[in-house]
Amino acid sequence: MKLLVTGGAGFIGSAVVRQAVRVGHEVVNLDALTYAACLENVAEVSGSHLYTFERADICDRPALDRIFSTHNPDVVMHLAAESHVDRSIDGPGDFIETNITGTYHLLEAARKNWIDTGKPDSFRFHHISTDEVYGTLPNDPSVMFTETTAYDPRSPYSASKAASDHLVRAWSATYGLPVVMTNCSNNYGPYHFPEKLIPLAILKALAGESLPIYGDGSYIRDWLYVEDHADALLLVAQKGELGRSYNIGGENERTNLEVVRTVCGILDDKRPRQDGKSYADQITFVTDRPGHDARYAIDPTRLRNELGWRPSLTLEEGLARTVQWYLDNEAWWRALQNRQGVGDRLGVKV
Ligand code: NAD
Repeated sequence: MKLLVTGGAGFIGSAVVRQAVRVGHEVVNLDALTYAACLENVAEVSGSHLYTFERADICDRPALDRIFSTHNPDVVMHLAAESHVDRSIDGPGDFIETNITGTYHLLEAARKNWIDTGKPDSFRFHHISTDEVYGTLPNDPSVMFTETTAYDPRSPYSASKAASDHLVRAWSATYGLPVVMTNCSNNYGPYHFPEKLIPLAILKALAGESLPIYGDGSYIRDWLYVEDHADALLLVAQKGELGRSYNIGGENERTNLEVVRTVCGILDDKRPRQDGKSYADQITFVTDRPGHDARYAIDPTRLRNELGWRPSLTLEEGLARTVQWYLDNEAWWRALQNRQGVGDRLGVKV
């Protein structure tokens, strides 16, 4: 397949790009290179004849038209987005622009190319979204997000992603654009930008700083190793039923406090503190995020039953790999720590 991956210099997009090239797909990586991007993430494949990079903003329609007519992809995998909830609280404008207006322009550019090339049966637009569009769940294991859960987004980030999901469904229903959609739980793993919970915890622990936990740390997320997510996305892009959406989860629900304590335990083994104490002693509790969703949990039945996919790693296995990756790749994360806002407390404005 020839894939056009948007946001392929980001965390999840780069995992998709690396995995797709490894298994022999041709990949065009379209990315505006915002603060969250890092071309190092795709260095492993950037010398391959299967890989091309196009620097472009998904809000730039002429650039999109040029890229579509030049490359004529079989499949679009749309991951480009503003993705950090705390930043969306401080400045929602970029989220509206990229996640909603950008998705609209990408849909229109894809539709034009699909029509211009005779509506090939093989074409697909795969929209990658989040479980955060469903809102928040009570702490009751019998209640989970399914593909039919009503949308109830509660942050500017999740509202902008929900809007983009609706646009994609509308382009399918109204114009017949062949689409598939996925909504995924929290990802973690190598190349995770150092403003997100798990890399932040690893790096603050190593720096001897306090490890900030929002509220009392009881918020529950369902964690998925990023390379498992990339595998699931490539499967849905090829085998997913047109017009259908699939929830992707890690089957690994934990509280934020449990996740950070596990990270500390792994670091205690791999790089013990010089004073012999545990990194968990650095945990502190800070003012909560406004509108913080209590629990996300994915019911993965559809993806498991229809496409036979399950995550390959437990959270403990994935965290051990992730911590080791950050220990081995200090040059990568040190360079990103200088970027605007990284390491600062964001998202407290009300
Ligand atoms: P990320 O912030 O790491 O990467 C986003 C990428 O998109 C960056 O490379 C950035 O430069 C690019 N980008 C941003 N605005 C752009 C624009 N206007 N034009 C072109 N490129 C632009 O994000 P991520 O964590 O890799 O998430 C990727 C996708 O997966 C997003 O759509 C996100 O909503 C979704 N998602 C993320 C998670 C998660 O846990 N991180 C979970 C579920 C779904």
